[in-house]
Amino acid sequence: MVIEDLQFVRQMEQWGARVLADQPLRRYTSLGVGGSAGIIRISRPDALEPVVAGLRERGVPWGVLGGGTNVLASDEPFHMVFLQLVPGPGDVMFESKGDGNQVTISTAASLGRTVMECAKRNLGGMEGLVGVPGSVGGALRMNAGAYGTQIGPLVRLVKVFRGATGTIEELPADSIGFHYRKSSFAPDDIMLTVTLELLTKPFREILAEVKLLNQRRRNSQPIKEKSAGCIFKNPPGLSTGKLIDELGMKGMRVGGAVISE
Ligand SMILES: Cc1cc2nc3c(=O)[nH]c(=O)nc-3n(C[C@H](O)[C@H](O)[C@H](O)COP(=O)(O)OP(=O)(O)OC[C@H]3O[C@@H](n4cnc5c(N)ncnc54)[C@H](O)[C@@H]3O)c2cc1C
Repeated sequence: MVIEDLQFVRQMEQWGARVLADQPLRRYTSLGVGGSAGIIRISRPDALEPVVAGLRERGVPWGVLGGGTNVLASDEPFHMVFLQLVPGPGDVMFESKGDGNQVTISTAASLGRTVMECAKRNLGGMEGLVGVPGSVGGALRMNAGAYGTQIGPLVRLVKVFRGATGTIEELPADSIGFHYRKSSFAPDDIMLTVTLELLTKPFREILAEVKLLNQRRRNSQPIKEKSAGCIFKNPPGLSTGKLIDELGMKGMRVGGAVISE
C-alpha cells in the first residue's frame, strides 16, 4: 500500500473518501487489464482539497479515474493512487433559470444515463453521446464524441478542482479548449460539475434517435466483448478502421488481444 499513515487513511474516511488498498485495476477498466493500485473513492467533493494536500505532503503520486473506458493500464503494480468520484442520485440537476435548457451534472455521472435523464425533461442535442461508455468527467477530459456530436460545444461552465493550487474554480466555456478527443484542462485538474446548454426536443423524438444510434453501434462494434470501441483516434483525414481493414489486420491476434472481424 502506498499510504502507510493509517491515521491519514482514517481521516480521509471521515472526510468522505474511501481508501481501497491494492486494487486490481483490471476490475476498474473496461478492457479488463491493469496491475494493482490504490483507489480512493470520493463521495464528497469537498474532501478533495484535504485528500490531495495530504497525498502531496506524503509524496504519494495520484491520478484520476472515471469509468475506466479509455484506459490501457500496464499489468505492473502502480505505486500511486487513483481518485475516483462516486456517482450519486442527485448527479443531474436541472436549472430553472434562463430558458430552462441548462443542466448541471456531476462529473461522476454516467454519460449515457445523463443523456436519458435529460431526454425525460425533453432536453436533447446530446443523443449522439448515448452509447459512449464512461463518466461525464471522462467525456469532458476526452471531448467525447460520436455520430456528429461532441460534448465540448454543449459546455457552458465547468467547476474544477485545481490540483496545482488546491482551489475550486468555475471555468466559462470560452476559457476551455475542446479539440479532437482532447481538452485543455491541466493534467491535475479534477472536473467536478459541468453545465450544458441543451435543446428543447420531445422525448419521443430523442428516444427514436437513441434507438437508431444504439442499433448502429451494435452493428459496428462487438459491444458485449471487452472492446477498445472508439478509444483509438483517427489520424487526420483517415479512418483507423479502414486502415486496419486495408492492411488485412482483421482477426490478427497477439496473446489475448484480437482485432475483431
Ligand atoms: C466500447 C467503447 C466504445 C467507445 N466509444 C466511444 C465513442 O463513440 N466516442 C468517444 O469519444 N469515445 C468512445 N470511447 C472511449 C471512452 O468511452 C471515452 O473517452 C469516455 O469519455 C471516457 O470516460 P471514462 O469515464 O471512462 O474516463 P476514463 O477512461 O476513466 O479516463 C479517461 C481520462 O479522463 C480523465 N478523467 C476522468 N474523469 C475525470 C474527472 N472528473 N476530472 C478530470 N479528469 C478525469 C482520466 O484521468 C483519464 O485521463 C469508447 C470506449 C469503449 C470501451
